[in-house]
Order: sequence, then structure tokens, then C-alpha cells
Amino acid sequence: MLNLPNTLVLALLAAAGSVYAQLPRPLINYPLGLSPVFDEGFFAGTAAPSATIVQWAPGKAPQACVNELAWNNCLSGRAVVYNVTYADCPTPWIMCRCDNADLSIYQMTNFFGRMPVHLRSTVRHVIATHGEGCSAYAITGPDDGDIVMQGNCNTQSIWLHETGHQLDARGLGTGVGFSTSPTFINALWNDTCVADDYGNTALWEEFAQMTVVSQSHVIYGYIQQQQYPGCFDSQLNALETAFKTSHLTYGGTCHTRIPATPTVNAVWKRGRIDRRGGKRIGPCKFDHLVAGHKH
Ligand SMILES: [Zn+2]
Repeated sequence: MLNLPNTLVLALLAAAGSVYAQLPRPLINYPLGLSPVFDEGFFAGTAAPSATIVQWAPGKAPQACVNELAWNNCLSGRAVVYNVTYADCPTPWIMCRCDNADLSIYQMTNFFGRMPVHLRSTVRHVIATHGEGCSAYAITGPDDGDIVMQGNCNTQSIWLHETGHQLDARGLGTGVGFSTSPTFINALWNDTCVADDYGNTALWEEFAQMTVVSQSHVIYGYIQQQQYPGCFDSQLNALETAFKTSHLTYGGTCHTRIPATPTVNAVWKRGRIDRRGGKRIGPCKFDHLVAGHKH
């Protein structure tokens, strides 16, 4: 038998217990996922500020939109670009759709606008494409900040989840993802469950799902329908201590925005994928979606 001093054993355990050893967890607080529990509440409890939507003339688009639309098999020439300016922020968000995207620009404006302006400010471009069902991804990194909806992603919990990836990546402003920081990992260690099965797949997915839970908590002041009440309270506390005031509270106006990517010709060759850098989180898949509303 290998006889190691206890302190060394503990150090080895700590090293082995890095990022991935925290998951999966056996207890799931929401076995059917978050949408059936939270989406009706988001629909009832939030409203988007008024917004003006101005469509660009055809032919130009932000570079990031060209990259993602091309990658999503949107045909060249089918990009539609809009400036969406909400009443609580004078700088528009430049949103892009493939013209066969399942979400309309009105839906995109509404779902995005239902989030607090400081949470919205972690997102650079909002992009929608056609897809079967709904999947979505977030492009994180210092030079990115986009969220992409593939298909009919017409539930608020998905928008919060993807924006949660940006909050994770950008919220601390230090270049360190919160979900892989000791603060969040220790909180998860103290808890007995994860939010749902999807949260069990990676620390950053659990963080994104806890962003959904936290936003509901901020709106309603309690947590609905827990299978194991209190089982994720440490994560909730960690996330809200870090981000409740700064990002999850409604009101105010934007004070930090990520500059849009340069405007380029919205022309690309079919099948040519020109995507620079960036870390793509996803595609995030969601089951049991409950659409609260249509626009
Ligand atoms: Zn995700």
C-alpha cells in the first residue's frame, strides 16, 4: 500500500477534483428541465421596454453576423440586419436574421428586451437562423459576445440561458469565467443537486441554468417547485452575490456596451466558413419547452 502523508493525499484529491469531477450530480432539482417551471412566470412577470426597429438596406452586415449566418447555411444575400433601440439604452443592438429564420425580429426584440438592461449588455449581436426545433449557442471570449438562436426558440428560459453564458464569461470583467472559478465550484461542492439534467453536462451549463433560476428568484422572491428544496442554494447565493445587483436587477440604463463588429459586405461563398477565434458554447439543446406566447 502506498503510504502518503495525509496532506499530500488531500492535495492530490484537490488536484483530481478539478473542473469535471464536480459533475454529474445524482440529484436533479427540476427533472423536466426549467421551461415548464419558469417560462410562464417570465411571461407574466416581465415586459420588454418599447423599442424602435430599423432595418438596414440590403448588402451590408456586421462581420460577426456574416460569420455565423454563413456557418448556419444561410444563403448569401439572405441576411437581414436591424438596429434595435430600446427605451432604456440609446445605443442599438444590431440583430441579424437569415430571412428564413423561425423567429421574427419582433420576437427577438421582445425576448431579448424582457431581460434587464445590464444583463442584455453582456451581449453584442443577437442572431437567429432556421433550425429544426430549437438549439442555441453563445460565442464567448474577449472579442466576441454573440448569441445565436437556431430554430423556434420562443421561450424566455432559453434566452436567459444563452445570455447566462455571456454573463459567465464577461460578468466578472476579469477574463475568468465565473463557472470555473473557485467561488462557483466551491458552491457546487456545498450543494447536493444541480438545476436539471442539462446543468449536469458541464459547469458552464449549470451556471447558465442557474442564471435562469436566479432571474426568476429576483423577480418573484422565491424559488418555484423544487424537488429538493434548498439543494442548490449555495450556487444561487454565489451567483446572486456576484451578479444580482450588477446584472439581474431591472431598471437603470446601459452603461457598458460591447462595440458592434465592423460592417462588411453581406456576401459569402456557400460552404465557406470564415469564423475567427472565439469559443462557442453549445449548441445547447433543450427539451420540454413550454412556449409562453407568440408574437
Ligand atoms: Zn448552454
